[in-house]
Amino acid sequence: MTLTVQPHRESLGLKTGQLYIDGQWGPAKDGATWTHQHPATGEAVGDFAVAGVADVDSAVAAARRAFESGKWSNSRAGVRISVLHRYANLLREHADELRGLQALDNSVPVSFGSIYATSVGAAADVFDHHAGWVDKVGGQTLPPYQGGDHLAMSFREPIGVVAAILPWNAPFLLFAQKVAPALAAGCTIVLKPSEYATFSVLRMVELLIEAGLPEGTLNVVTGPGDPVGEALITHPDVDKVSFTGSRAIGKRIVEASAGTLKRVSLELGGKSPALVFADAPNIGLAAATVVGAVTMGLSGQACVANTRALVHRDVYDEFLAAAQGMAAGVTYGDPFDPGVISSPLINERQLERVLGYIERGKAEGARLVTGGERLGGELASGNFVGPTIFADVENSSTIAQEEIFGPVLAVVPFSDEDEAIRLANDTEYGLGAGLFTSDVQRAFRVSRRLRVGTIGINGFQIEPHLPFGGFKQSGLGREGGQSAFEAYTELKTVMMPLTDEMM
Ligand code: NAD
Repeated sequence: MTLTVQPHRESLGLKTGQLYIDGQWGPAKDGATWTHQHPATGEAVGDFAVAGVADVDSAVAAARRAFESGKWSNSRAGVRISVLHRYANLLREHADELRGLQALDNSVPVSFGSIYATSVGAAADVFDHHAGWVDKVGGQTLPPYQGGDHLAMSFREPIGVVAAILPWNAPFLLFAQKVAPALAAGCTIVLKPSEYATFSVLRMVELLIEAGLPEGTLNVVTGPGDPVGEALITHPDVDKVSFTGSRAIGKRIVEASAGTLKRVSLELGGKSPALVFADAPNIGLAAATVVGAVTMGLSGQACVANTRALVHRDVYDEFLAAAQGMAAGVTYGDPFDPGVISSPLINERQLERVLGYIERGKAEGARLVTGGERLGGELASGNFVGPTIFADVENSSTIAQEEIFGPVLAVVPFSDEDEAIRLANDTEYGLGAGLFTSDVQRAFRVSRRLRVGTIGINGFQIEPHLPFGGFKQSGLGREGGQSAFEAYTELKTVMMPLTDEMM
């Protein structure tokens, strides 16, 4: 039987070929479009508009006008709060539809789309969470340092026009992590979804309009990194770029921001370790957690997946056996089939890249214990690679150092705690880490020494109110919680003598 997503495409409907600028849907000025090919079937899903430089100019100008008008940035807090809450509820009402659109976009199975971290419900909670900051984050009133009758205050003001650039792998959550704090702070936005997850984001935008967002406050330019993303990150009238994606593009954004010293927030890649100590409460569960994150759901195309398992030699064989057992249970296919729990790679370029890393792993002497191949049969027209586990990996080797963004786990043995910490930190990335131990003191001792932004001790979950982001080359700044809201504000200091003598 040949896989097809065509019936779902017809029943869900798609917003095709449209940008959203200054409150109007319309095609790109030069009529350019992109045809999205489904990663599981290779079918043409639909066409969307490719914005040109002139469209990006119009979108930025609309966002600037909306910002200067104050219709959102200076509106009553109650108005902003109620729009954000109304939107959160609309998202929840449309969760099934959005999950289906995501399956058409990136082939993330509907079964995984229900798991909290990547769900529409989590995105809705992020909007509810940030609605709560609208009337709570302010500046300070401080006593005058030099004494006397002098008023000294600081204010937080919206940063201005934000370019929000999304990756394809978790469009609901990442849309929310950028758009919610930016809107709560009073910014206006030009949003660029990934060219590999556009249709679900366009529907999210339609719902935001329905929730009552004023025209020009959010503008959407669709299309690939070049020309659309480049035009945005180099645009002189963009005040801040908020980006989630690869390290290479993150570096390009830092370069491009220099021209006008744009504010920049970057959520980039990782090579996050899981440290499995011999005293882990349950080695089988630790292996299942690690292998599940690397092979199920997004098929390892997740920034924070623990793609390096550092395992104590005493439990190494037990871990590997359990890891192989877990890998054997991963299912692929039609993303609308509730029995399917994993995804294909997003495109052919990524398929070739992952297969190239697998060959590199073998060539560098790692022991392939399972997988390592493209899947065939009825999956042959998709970009599927099965769960792949390499054992006896040198931490300095390519597959232990570079972000593969595929279902490839590198297992590295260690002998003691110091070695585990040294190996864990021996990477240019610093996004996350998992610890598996029953020793509470060890858990915190090791956590303090790891150079990463987020640590899960015997488990991990994404929460809307917690900061999330990376040390080292995994990013700049944090999403989630108060720090995210503040990242869309500028601090302004205002002072005033209270008597004429002080002037
Ligand atoms: P990507 O860097 O290829 O693309 C991300 C976005 O940038 C897309 O919208 C793309 O069109 C755009 N882009 C590409 N070139 C551009 C340019 N020159 N200027 C401006 N924009 C440009 O990444 P991807 O494949 O979509 O996502 C995978 C990457 O994202 C991985 O590295 C992953 O680790 C990272 N990621 C990080 C987090 C996090 O929170 N830290 C979350 C999800 C994904």
